[in-house]
Amino acid sequence: MRIILLGAPGAGKGTQCKRIAAQYGLQHLSSGDILRAERAACTELGTKAQSYMDSGELVPDEVMVEIMTDAIKKAPIAGFILDGFPRTINQAVELDRALTENQLEIDTVLNLNIDDHLVATRITGRRSCPRCGAVYNIENLKPKVDGICDKDGTELIQRSDDKPEVVANRLKTYHQQTEPMVDYYRNNSMVYDIDSNKNADKVSAIIFEKLDALVKTQSYKI
Ligand code: AMP
Repeated sequence: MRIILLGAPGAGKGTQCKRIAAQYGLQHLSSGDILRAERAACTELGTKAQSYMDSGELVPDEVMVEIMTDAIKKAPIAGFILDGFPRTINQAVELDRALTENQLEIDTVLNLNIDDHLVATRITGRRSCPRCGAVYNIENLKPKVDGICDKDGTELIQRSDDKPEVVANRLKTYHQQTEPMVDYYRNNSMVYDIDSNKNADKVSAIIFEKLDALVKTQSYKI
């Protein structure tokens, strides 16, 4: 199964993608996580991406298309879920081209809808584990011990681009460059809209119901 998960920053893409990947045996391909790993390893790519990420701007399309199409080619046969890519119409067009070249198709596009006024509170409360990538929220998804990852005991951090001034620009970037891309997929009538103002468990239940139905009709092996 091959899925694209869309949504504004703070809509819960990372959390839902991890759950979907675990439930259906898919590879989670997060463009943001790949860039953060490159930054942590101080690679040329990581250094190039840094200033864009820290200001809430998009990394240039050609860089992202190369990284992500490469990751897709290496993904297991069971499939993948794309998180954070594509983010512009141009990226979507290039993704389509790469999928066609590799005789692959996207089975469904899930679009997490969230009200703008909820985004800031959600993101500024977000804490993540620098080692395993687990995501928490100090308001509604707390770790068992304050500030510590449940999975590996690492101290949780706030992402540098989760600071309020950067979040405002990320949201602006989303509305200007990514939202128009949702219509690109809508025109192919592949988009399933999900209300992501609810809590994460309720959103997962809705997604799983949709994907279970898809699995039944298309006989995937999971
Ligand atoms: P995310 O973790 O998906 O919120 O991504 C964090 C940051 O990485 C974004 O604010 C962008 O600066 C950059 N980024 C991630 N994915 C993309 C993409 N597909 N195109 C351009 N920039 C991206």
